[in-house]
Amino acid sequence: MSGTDYKFEGWLGHDASAGEGKMQWGEFEPKPWEETDIDIRISHCSICGSDLHTLHSGWGPTNYPCCVGHEIVGTVVRVGSKAEGGLKLGDRVGVGAQSDSCRGRLGPCEACSSGMENYCQNKMVGTYNSVHLNGGKSYGGYATYNRVPSHFVVKIPDSISSAEAAPMLCAGVTTYAPLKHHGAGPGKTVGIIGLGGLGHFGVMWAKALNADKVVVVSRTSAKKDDAVKMGADEFIATADDPDWAKNHSSTLDIILCTVSSSSMPLMEYMSLLRFNGTFVQVGAPNDGLPSIKQFALMFKRLSITGSMIGSPDDIRDMLQLAEDKKVKPWIKEIPMKNANQAIVDFDAGKPRYRFVLAN
Ligand code: NAP
Ligand code: ZN
Ligand code: ZN
Repeated sequence: MSGTDYKFEGWLGHDASAGEGKMQWGEFEPKPWEETDIDIRISHCSICGSDLHTLHSGWGPTNYPCCVGHEIVGTVVRVGSKAEGGLKLGDRVGVGAQSDSCRGRLGPCEACSSGMENYCQNKMVGTYNSVHLNGGKSYGGYATYNRVPSHFVVKIPDSISSAEAAPMLCAGVTTYAPLKHHGAGPGKTVGIIGLGGLGHFGVMWAKALNADKVVVVSRTSAKKDDAVKMGADEFIATADDPDWAKNHSSTLDIILCTVSSSSMPLMEYMSLLRFNGTFVQVGAPNDGLPSIKQFALMFKRLSITGSMIGSPDDIRDMLQLAEDKKVKPWIKEIPMKNANQAIVDFDAGKPRYRFVLAN
């Protein structure tokens, strides 16, 4: 349906040193084309904490060469004859952290058949560092072009700029989906732990969903003013108040924890929950979570759970909420050519609150 005289090039990690800002620009072979696919000319791709885990081989050996980036926005330049969603050449679209799932092709799948592809138990194809059903490797968005099954492509509403839409596609939906699922809304006090890329969306979604109160738990008070501007009603700086856990004990209904350190004070965080409270972990430490003390769970009948990105439908719902409530991420655009410096700065905790690489 269009010429294919373009090259797939991007920032490739060749070994674990890539995470130290040693990615190398090069060409890669996208998945073999299928008529259900879309090719996207990438305009923006933001940097997610997961990109760093993967470049460093933090979650296990990465399948190098690897081009990371799964908060991708761009323009459709090729549309397969069997593409879904009425996508057309020139449409402004996005792709998040997932590029495919089994969708019934590998046997029955409860998750896929109920629109929760992000929980597919047969085949979770990540936007990078995965293998597609047809055997092709997946390569992410620190690149010129992306090839992706159309089922996982969403249209970006006109009122949301490409740079602002990009971080919504992973950080946005990863926080939106569990807040929605666990009923963060009227009558609930919501805690967001870690004010980074994910956390800053968490604050804004909880406000947009009309939670009674939103409390940010951060290490220091450095981000307090920002948190208030995002809508936070209260701010706890754990390094500044030795009694923070005691002083705020049993005050929260739902906690969304975005922290990815295996030495986080998990039991102190959980002590902030009221009776019947729910702790949702989305941060993904390389070395797992600290151990849990059973009596803390028993005495208050607490729940601890996790949440994995969001489905294409979740992304569409989130974009609608962002439009309706005018939710705008805090971003800084950085030229794609400076991606290596950007990941070094990301690792140093510098984003306020998402770096968006721009082609
Ligand atoms: P980020 O922007 O770096 O934010 C993480 C925040 O955690 C930091 O801003 C910091 O907040 C806090 N933090 C960092 N180190 C800490 C430590 N040692 N102790 C306590 N708090 C610490 O990263 P992100 O992009 O939001 O990603 C966060 C995590 O979520 C990563 O592990 C990523 O892989 C994971 N993730 C999971 C999913 C999923 O589907 N579950 C999806 C996307 C990302 P303060 O400065 O406020 O303390
Ligand atoms: Zn991500
Ligand atoms: Zn499935």
